[in-house]
Amino acid sequence: MKIHEYQAKAILAQYGIPVPRGRVAFTPEEAEEAARELGTPIVVVKAQIHAGGRGKGGGVKLAHSPVEAKALAEMMLGHTLVTHQTGPEGKEVQKVLIEEGLPIKKELYVGITVDRVSNKPVMIASYEGGMEIEEVARTQPEKILKAPIETSGFSAYQARNLAFGIGLQGKEALACAVVFQKLATMGVAGDTSLVEINPLVITEDGRVIALDGKINFDDNALFRHPDYATLRDLSEEEPLEIEASKYDLNYIKLDGEVGCMVNGAGLAMGTMDMVKLYGSMPANFLDVGGTANVDRVAAAFHILMSDPNVKAVLVNIFGGIVRCDRVAGGIIQALQQVQVDVPIVIRLKGTNADQARQMLKEADFPFIVADTLSDAAEKVVQSLSNAA
Ligand code: ADP
Ligand code: MG
Repeated sequence: MKIHEYQAKAILAQYGIPVPRGRVAFTPEEAEEAARELGTPIVVVKAQIHAGGRGKGGGVKLAHSPVEAKALAEMMLGHTLVTHQTGPEGKEVQKVLIEEGLPIKKELYVGITVDRVSNKPVMIASYEGGMEIEEVARTQPEKILKAPIETSGFSAYQARNLAFGIGLQGKEALACAVVFQKLATMGVAGDTSLVEINPLVITEDGRVIALDGKINFDDNALFRHPDYATLRDLSEEEPLEIEASKYDLNYIKLDGEVGCMVNGAGLAMGTMDMVKLYGSMPANFLDVGGTANVDRVAAAFHILMSDPNVKAVLVNIFGGIVRCDRVAGGIIQALQQVQVDVPIVIRLKGTNADQARQMLKEADFPFIVADTLSDAAEKVVQSLSNAA
């Protein structure tokens, strides 16, 4: 689950990490009022969307007066902001964060992600933070340091080692180490899947402040944090993904043209790989789960068909717990409820696969039946070029 910068900063502050003074505003008038309240010579107007890269995309602007803050808020609110993280369609800005402009001496990077090799959270830091961090990662990866966060925690020694390791010195290193340690505490206690403070700044007057804040929570741990529910902003989420979650379908929208309906996450990943291998791209990840009954299959078709990018559907279901003839019956019945006007390639393997195949052949829909996974992928890609 993603949250906005202003919400992330409130959480950082709870853990004792300094953040700029600021307030969220929903209208230009509120933005002006917030700027007046701050009373600093410069305020920063920051578009709140669930994506980064705002600075380069025009979503972070300096204002030299409350009236200018109002004008900048007016330019952002209700408009679409495109950044390299939003995709070309961009995201509509519905709120802005108005915060004090700070005199920046140095922009650092610090984050926490999950290291899939060691299966541990890992803190990542660099002296070269700011808007060019992706470039640093590409061209000077040695400038980005990592330190594992152990079950026992992130020790003061580790934090200092990391701070000195990236090139900080003296008081600045010690002050940053304190922030690193607090950040690790927050990451573990908050069940975050990603934390990024870019930049963590050192100001001209020697303060260390989190100037940006991105926090993603691990969805599988949300049950431990009922209070996070109020932080969720559904308007930032993909409508089809919200719809899918109502049916307990694991659905992620992607950019390709082959709608995939699969049971089991591993098989879903494998199916997506095969679609790509045969020269097309999946339009989604969709795991319908172990019990592929009529309602869920119908809901899944409905969601796939709501995506205008879907030009063909590939159903790849393994009948282990669920029998293939039941799934075939479910698909045939579901198609009476949902209109599907693109080719459907189906591969059913496992218990009663032969009966299922027979049912599909006799059904009132021109299913393309496939045998192996590669056969299925090849046929679905073929059906795209036939349709084109
Ligand atoms: P994004 O990562 O989406 O581009 P940031 O919050 O990191 O957005 O802001 C981009 C840049 O704007 C920062 O690297 C910093 O240079 C500047 N900036 C952001 N907030 C402030 C602030 N409160 N005071 C001064 N400069 C700021
Ligand atoms: Mg940033």
